Amino acid sequence: MTEPTDLTQRFRRLIAQSGPLSVAQFMGEANAEYYAARDPLGSAGDFTTAPEISQMFGEMIGLWCADLWQRAGRPDVAYVELGPGRGTLARDALRAMARLGLAPETHFVEASPALRALQHGAVPNARFHDTLDTLPNDTALLIVANEFFDALPVRQVVRTDRGWRERKVSHDGDRFLFVAGDSVLDGIVPEAFRDAEPGTILEACPAAVGWMREIAARLSLRGGAALVLDYGMLESKAGSTLQAVRRHRKVKPLTAPGTADLTAHVDFAALRIAASTDVRAGVRVATTTQGAFLERLGITSRAQALVRAHPEQALNIAAAHRRLVAPQDMGELFKVMTISVPYWPKPIGFD
Ligand code: SAH
Repeated sequence: MTEPTDLTQRFRRLIAQSGPLSVAQFMGEANAEYYAARDPLGSAGDFTTAPEISQMFGEMIGLWCADLWQRAGRPDVAYVELGPGRGTLARDALRAMARLGLAPETHFVEASPALRALQHGAVPNARFHDTLDTLPNDTALLIVANEFFDALPVRQVVRTDRGWRERKVSHDGDRFLFVAGDSVLDGIVPEAFRDAEPGTILEACPAAVGWMREIAARLSLRGGAALVLDYGMLESKAGSTLQAVRRHRKVKPLTAPGTADLTAHVDFAALRIAASTDVRAGVRVATTTQGAFLERLGITSRAQALVRAHPEQALNIAAAHRRLVAPQDMGELFKVMTISVPYWPKPIGFD
């Protein structure tokens, strides 16, 4: 047995005092603790993300930004990244932008002090923010978020034989376990699911909706576009997608909170609705898969050019290309969404 962590103790006390926690509170606090003190990325860490697989990923995103900026008439823009990890994507993207004449001010929205330190090393002149509230509001924005939304806390409801209840986390003296809350929530469940089989779970991410509405509002202020890349689904569906990863393996999500990365699949249909609500000028939203997006941006030619320049790396480059675009790897599970203002040109990479 491992020693219980401080967070385990705190959750147990909270549950003893005031009853089960919502899945969102459990996930939110576990992730805040998880990210605050460590670098979880790479082969020595818990999981690997696209920018850590190959420089080609960040370069394609830099190209996407520079192309849009050029066609928009080279306005003043700031590059904004949400949850930049080690700063690798930003560094590769900014290098590609610079080759095309774009050198934007850089702003990172990041909660983790440990990751802020790494991001500062990768992009020394980036400015840091806790939220979107402090971003500049006098310039157009190019906003990028890779594997950011999947880390935001989800809420769940579960159908019981006594109606729909919030799915909560309790402790039985030995381990955390899921339980059904007391209040009946049938009223908030969409008509189509009211009579679903007992055991059916629905998941929603209010935090993602909040971030997305704020992104759309910010873009509508001075123009620009956002690019959200993550694993998830283009159509909402029932089921829990909560998962935990430690050392590149799936582990039980409720065991040892704060020591594994907790994520949920991103519901892009819900993000689309969030982006389109409440924005006076309206925004355009388009989605595709990561594989199709990277192919349309020319990742295959980029891989070939890298192989010509570094023939000794040919196998590694081919393997990285495959991981990023092949349907059985990241190509189809990962989706890409762009949000842009109607008075800007359409971003490339989408149909
Ligand atoms: N984009 C990076 C890292 C993904 S991991 C990559 O692709 O490699 C998730 C990132 O989001 C981390 O940097 C984490 O610290 C940050 N993060 C998670 N929740 C956050 C929140 N609520 N506010 C700000 N940053 C957050």
